[in-house]
Amino acid sequence: MTEKKHPINEDNEKETTSLHDITKELIEELKQSSNEVFMTLPLSPSDDSSENQDKNAIIDHIKTFNIRPKDIKTYLDRFVINQTNAKKALAISICDHYNYIKETLTNTSPGHYTKQNILMIGPTGVGKTYLIKRIAELIGVPFVKSDATKFTETGYQGGDVEDLVRQLYKKANHHIELAEHGIIYLDEVDKITGTQSSHHKDISGRGVQSNLLKIMEDTDVTIRPNWDIQAQIKQMMSTKKDAPSEKETINTKNILFIMSGAFNHLDDIIEKRLTGHKIGFDRIKKDPNNKDTSPIKNLRTKDLVTFGLEPEFAGRLPVRVQLNELSKTDLSHILVHSEESILEQYILSFKRFNIELYVNDDALDEIADIAYQEQIGARALSSTLENIFREFKFELPSTNIGYIYATKEFIQDPKKILENYLKSPKKQLTADIMATISNEIKKSNLTVTKDEQDTLLNQCLDESNKGHIVELIQNYMRNYVKTD
Ligand code: ADP
Repeated sequence: MTEKKHPINEDNEKETTSLHDITKELIEELKQSSNEVFMTLPLSPSDDSSENQDKNAIIDHIKTFNIRPKDIKTYLDRFVINQTNAKKALAISICDHYNYIKETLTNTSPGHYTKQNILMIGPTGVGKTYLIKRIAELIGVPFVKSDATKFTETGYQGGDVEDLVRQLYKKANHHIELAEHGIIYLDEVDKITGTQSSHHKDISGRGVQSNLLKIMEDTDVTIRPNWDIQAQIKQMMSTKKDAPSEKETINTKNILFIMSGAFNHLDDIIEKRLTGHKIGFDRIKKDPNNKDTSPIKNLRTKDLVTFGLEPEFAGRLPVRVQLNELSKTDLSHILVHSEESILEQYILSFKRFNIELYVNDDALDEIADIAYQEQIGARALSSTLENIFREFKFELPSTNIGYIYATKEFIQDPKKILENYLKSPKKQLTADIMATISNEIKKSNLTVTKDEQDTLLNQCLDESNKGHIVELIQNYMRNYVKTD
């Protein structure tokens, strides 16, 4: 898009350009001194026609939305382990929301609907963001995530909550209609409360809540923030006749808001309301995954208000979902059964150097065990794997080593095992292949003779099979026919 000349300045190109440059510089300076949530808005939104066609295709896609809650749950099951209740509740409200959106886009008089904004309650690293990210991908709508603690009431020192909407506009590649149907996810809302227990309520937190309330309802947010001097100058210089032809605001009515937080001790509040005092709290705490004993299932709006949320704010979050803490077994399942898991990423990154990585079950349990100690849910899996494999990732690509068999001992002392690899690679390779063969025999419950195992070992050692050792062994077991 070419820069529009202002009618007053039509033949004074030079002056327009320098004003433009000064404004650009000022914006750069302001941005450098602001919070990271302020994002870059282009000086002139792109009007590339193929891009616009893509965006229109997404709107058309929403117009034909016919996904059912079970489809969403099935899709989420591929990536997210556990969290069955959360998946179901999210699936239902997402379907309700986008069925309504479909109606608004295709019907001039859609039926009555109250937005099903969602409150997710659960500790860190259990899949809250991951669930929403995957859902947004499935529906094909833009999605932004931020932390509530980044915002201040005035937006002066921290961010202004309206920036979230502008961020969504950016994610939608500057397509207003698409941004108007996106998802905003805000974590740590339990940190913007005016807690009842403190002597002085946190006024700023309450202010942020009421600002959020406005955008959760039906507000027009300008696509350029107040600190955007170019927008202000443009506005100042514009006459009625020159009013912008393109829409400059994003309406928030149909944006779905999802809030989350750990809400520590919310169960105390519920328990106290139910019983008058904290009976059995310890029993419940010890078994957080037990949905039958967890008091969160009795959550009422008044409990959230006691916790410190404003009644109107809590009331705008009618769908409440609890996420479970992840057990060691869940962590191990994430490694193996969730598509695109972090372990899969490690296997792939070794593979790019023509190195195969095989992790046996005991090693998986050990990784899960180490990660579990961190008490940050699945987030710890990533750092655990990084600690274990960093040196291998650094050293092995410069050697001829093409196979790693990770065991429990390997996970416990990777440094020592790496020394073995570097000192006697051939010996290590033979030992690793033999261990893989034994492991696969055990898993497939076959009786493979010593001679057969030796033949298979030799095949695996053949240079031509480098990079395909696991495949070779597994195919062998799959097609094994006992010879007498
Ligand atoms: P939070 O609950 O704090 O929002 P995230 O959803 O961001 O946590 O989780 C961090 C990462 O951990 C995700 O990107 C994902 O890779 C992994 N993860 C977390 N929970 C699960 C889960 N239940 N199943 C599979 N992977 C998960």
